[in-house]
This record gives sequence, structure tokens and C-alpha cells, in this order.
Amino acid sequence: MEDKTLSAAVEAVGFACALSRGVRAALVTDDTLTKKDRSPVTIADLGVQAVISHHLHQHNPDIPLMAEEESALLRDPANAELRKRVLEHVARIAPALDETAVMAAIDRGHHQGGAAGRFWTMDPIDGTKGFIRNDQYAVALALIEDGVVQLGVLGCPSLPVETMQGGGTTGAIFAARRGGGARLCALDQSDARVIHVSKVTETAQAVICQSVETGHTSHGRSARIAAKLRVTAPSLHMDSQCKYGVVARGEASVYMRLPSRASVYEEMIWDHAAGCLIVEEAGGRVTDVNGKPLNFALGRTLRDNTGVIATNGHIHDQEIAAVRSVMAEA
Ligand code: AMP
Ligand code: MG
Repeated sequence: MEDKTLSAAVEAVGFACALSRGVRAALVTDDTLTKKDRSPVTIADLGVQAVISHHLHQHNPDIPLMAEEESALLRDPANAELRKRVLEHVARIAPALDETAVMAAIDRGHHQGGAAGRFWTMDPIDGTKGFIRNDQYAVALALIEDGVVQLGVLGCPSLPVETMQGGGTTGAIFAARRGGGARLCALDQSDARVIHVSKVTETAQAVICQSVETGHTSHGRSARIAAKLRVTAPSLHMDSQCKYGVVARGEASVYMRLPSRASVYEEMIWDHAAGCLIVEEAGGRVTDVNGKPLNFALGRTLRDNTGVIATNGHIHDQEIAAVRSVMAEA
């Protein structure tokens, strides 16, 4: 894949991060964000989808897009206020985009995916719970060709560029091209550097990261797995695909996503495509809990896979063995 396509994707994600930050900053106080009022998430979701879809279409109108949102909600006269706010936020980032262009851009995201051809897949705001809590969230974009992820870009507007300890710039973009390695830069694309997974080879030295939400991963099972692997460091709990980013830059060695016993949930491809390639290109490995590669060729979900395990590669087999033994417990 040409580097120009990756540059266009990074640029689009940069605009999207500026938009999502604008929506977040426009909230007067955090207490306007009750669990019931999801409108800021909706505004950011739709605004990001419009900006990225438009930018990618300008770059190459022949690559279709698979995205979560559609404009029906905005066309409903009852949602005039919501529409106005989406248009305002988009106008700050992309003044040339009028209402018609915004609606058209949002509606372009209906590709169904599959094994043939290429398409973009996008999660405009991944980790909406983190966005609401003013914590981690990500703008995720990946290009899939014949079922294989070729480009991955993750915008992490609230992630410190260096480490979770903070200090330095906040707001990072991870980007990878298959066969071309993975890199990390600030939101304005300054301070770009090549990134690598951690060198840890003893599971006891590993740092594990996982979802904040117990509904998305079983914390009970991950604690048993950590004990089996003699992991002593506390887990990093984080929303969104930022977890793949911290594994790719070597800050954590494992990202575990473990279905609970009764779960029939199928992971959405846009929740993993970008992060998966970024970890692999940084030298790591990504499979499901059974050690099977993730299959992005089956449409909108990873229906062939169960959960996700991303590691630095060195400890992948040991990690999978521990996961399988805990998953097999009655
Ligand atoms: P995270 O921020 O890593 O906890 O994951 C956020 C993503 O979890 C969202 O984008 C949802 O698509 C996805 N999700 C929703 N329900 C579930 C579930 N039951 N199990 C796993 N992931 C889920
Ligand atoms: Mg998501």
C-alpha cells in the first residue's frame, strides 16, 4: 500500500482527534455528562465519522467505508439541536463541509466488508465510556484488503505520548503499514518515532492491560491467569484500543480480552483491526483466546474468534496456555 494512503489516514485521524477534543472541551462541567445524556458521544461519533469519511473520499473515492453510524438520527426534525451541534463542531475542523456534505459523508459508511476487495473500517469514538469519564478513548481507522489489515491508525487524544505516568505531550497517534513497522507521534504529527513491543520474556515481569468495563472482559478470569503466570505488577485498566497502543510501545506486555462464561458476543472488526496491525508491526502477536489469528474477512464481526489476546510475542504461547487452562475451569 502506498504511503500516501497511510498519510491520508493519519491526517484524517488527526482532524478527528481535534474534533473529539473540541466536543469534550465544550462540555461546561463534567456533571452535564450524566449516564443518561449520551448526546456528547453522539455528536463526537457523527462529527468524527463525517470528517474522516469526507477526507478519505477526497483522497480516493473508490475505497468504500464500513462505519457504525448513519445520518437518519440527524435527519429527524426532532433532533434539530443535535444536528446543529454536529455541524458546528465539523465546521471548526473542516469549514468547507456544509450540511449536505456532512450527511453524505456520514452515509457513505455502509460497506459490509468480507473477503474480497479493499475497504476502510472505522470506529469514530472507540471507548465511549472513557470519553464520558474524560479518560481514554480512541479514533480507530484501518484499511483491509482481501481480508487482511494493511493499514492501521489509532488516534488517542487523551493518551500521553511518552508513558501513562504523564509528563510531556498528551494526545498520540499510532500508525502502521503491513511490513512497514509501527510508529507513534503527537496529534500534530511532531515527535514521530518507531515503536517496539517490550523485551520481557518472563511472564512474571509482564504488565497486563485490560478493559475498565467488566462487561467487556472477565476481570475474574484475568486475575486467575495473572496468578498462574506469577504476574506481580498491577493491571492497567483502560478503555478503547489505546490498550493496543500501550502494548505496541512496550509499556504493557499483554492485552487480554476474555469473554465471560455465558458470552455470545461477537467482536466488531473496527474494534480490533487498527490495534491488531499496530501491535504486530511493533513486533508483537495478536490472536484470540485459543491462539487463532483474528479473521477480518467475515464481514462486520470476528465471528470465527473468541476474545482477543495481544502480547509482545515473546510470552504469547505461555499466555495462551494460561488463558486456555483458566477458560477450561468449570
Ligand atoms: P473497551 O473500551 O476495550 O472496554 O471496549 C469498547 C468496545 O467494546 C466497544 O466499542 C464495543 O463495541 C465493545 N463491546 C460492547 N459490548 C461488548 C461485550 N459484551 N464484550 C466485549 N466487547 C463489547
Ligand atoms: Mg469501539
